[in-house]
Amino acid sequence: MGEQSPEKLLTPVLSASWDQEDSWTLDNYRAHGGYRALPKALAMPPDEVIAYVKDSGLRGRGGAGFPTGMKWQFIPQGDGKPHYLVVNADESEPGTCKDIPLLYASPHALIEGIVIACHAIRSHHAFVYLRGEVVPVLRRLQAAVAEAYRAGYLGKGALGAGGDLDITVHAGAGAYICGEETALLDSLEGRRGQPRLRPPFPAVAGLYACPTVVNNVESIASVPAIIDRGKEWFRSMGSEKSPGFTLYSLSGHVARPGQYEAPLGITLRELLDLSGGMRPGHRLKFWTPGGSSTPMFTDEHLDVPLDYEGVGAAGSMLGTKALQCFDETTCVVRAVTRWTEFYAHESCGKCTPCREGTYWLVQLLRDIEAGKGLLSDIDKLADIADNINGKSFCALGDGAASPIFSSLKYFREEYEQHITQRGCPFDPARSTAWA
Ligand code: NAD
Ligand code: SF4
Repeated sequence: MGEQSPEKLLTPVLSASWDQEDSWTLDNYRAHGGYRALPKALAMPPDEVIAYVKDSGLRGRGGAGFPTGMKWQFIPQGDGKPHYLVVNADESEPGTCKDIPLLYASPHALIEGIVIACHAIRSHHAFVYLRGEVVPVLRRLQAAVAEAYRAGYLGKGALGAGGDLDITVHAGAGAYICGEETALLDSLEGRRGQPRLRPPFPAVAGLYACPTVVNNVESIASVPAIIDRGKEWFRSMGSEKSPGFTLYSLSGHVARPGQYEAPLGITLRELLDLSGGMRPGHRLKFWTPGGSSTPMFTDEHLDVPLDYEGVGAAGSMLGTKALQCFDETTCVVRAVTRWTEFYAHESCGKCTPCREGTYWLVQLLRDIEAGKGLLSDIDKLADIADNINGKSFCALGDGAASPIFSSLKYFREEYEQHITQRGCPFDPARSTAWA
């Protein structure tokens, strides 16, 4: 990112008015240029909008980074079936907190993006699948959708010559697996949310077996700014393969945790400069670039460019850009145990490697943390993780194995210490708790 001052690296687009109390209202959104992109997009033929978004280089902000325009292009045309847009607002990856704040503070950015996306893929019905626990966000989103109907942005003739558009806001019941796109579709159809076999991908057979685009909140909410300010403007940020601005969630032992909107390719060192650094008197020990399911990094990785290629080349994944930072007081075995308990609890049980493997990982980790483990348990942990990774039905299994591999890579001696010293070197009281 060169030698600019850290503040200059911030690119407040989606978050530009979050500090204003009424940022969520239609009036505020319009006062800041909201719904300006919509007539421009509606005046373009649908395929042109798709090509424009594709040329902008926007990549999915839900974690996988799949090119958004390409995903829209997969929707068959003239097939006689209804097409659906489903917005994945089931944000649940540990450490990830950017879609929910975005919906709370700026729901109209999503709604405008939905109208543009539905025009592009020729859809007349969009669904927003929101995690059910965030009731204030649900209410605010529903209020914003009602405002958009009243203003004529939704409903009859909302797509101009393209016809009508409705949005249904659906609250899930709080299962992490329902963030997996096909489990989400099952849940939306009223079934127990469990992943479906892919292919067929949702673009071919999604909601009600019809062509469906499933996009993350941030991806769709970014579209109006791209149409309004231009694909060249978007491409002027970030890198060639990972262009644009994005929302990073910074959490843990940092002085000022929160959401930071900056170009892709910024480094954690720069983000820490922006957020006041680690808490006073402490230093970074380990961190996740994209939530707990992405391999952890250490202080050696402070200058890794936070884009898909940079993080990938350094051995991890950008994922949801959830930067959880832990200082030297943190027991890595405890952190990994806590994450693994989460994955074991959230495993949907459909496939054996994940259902059984995450259970056994938790048993071993709890024993090691309590000082009751054997040195041979460390290899057993790696072996179980190896039998989950790449052998599970969906990405949850791989995500559960990831912190095991990376913590063993960087902190194997800390596991050994727990075993040889018969307890946690960071918190001896915890050892007796399990005795
Ligand atoms: P994926 O790479 O399999 O798919 C990404 C998207 O591209 C999907 O929408 C998929 O349908 C589409 N796609 C891929 N190949 C396609 C093809 N050939 N034809 C048509 N469409 C195609 O990734 P995934 O399993 O959907 O998601 C994994 C990611 O989810 C991880 O990177 C993780 O970071 C993220 N994640 C996010 C959260 C959260 O809270 N936001 C939670 C858990 C995981
Ligand atoms: Fe379910 Fe886990 Fe298998 Fe995914 S990997 S289908 S969450 S059991």
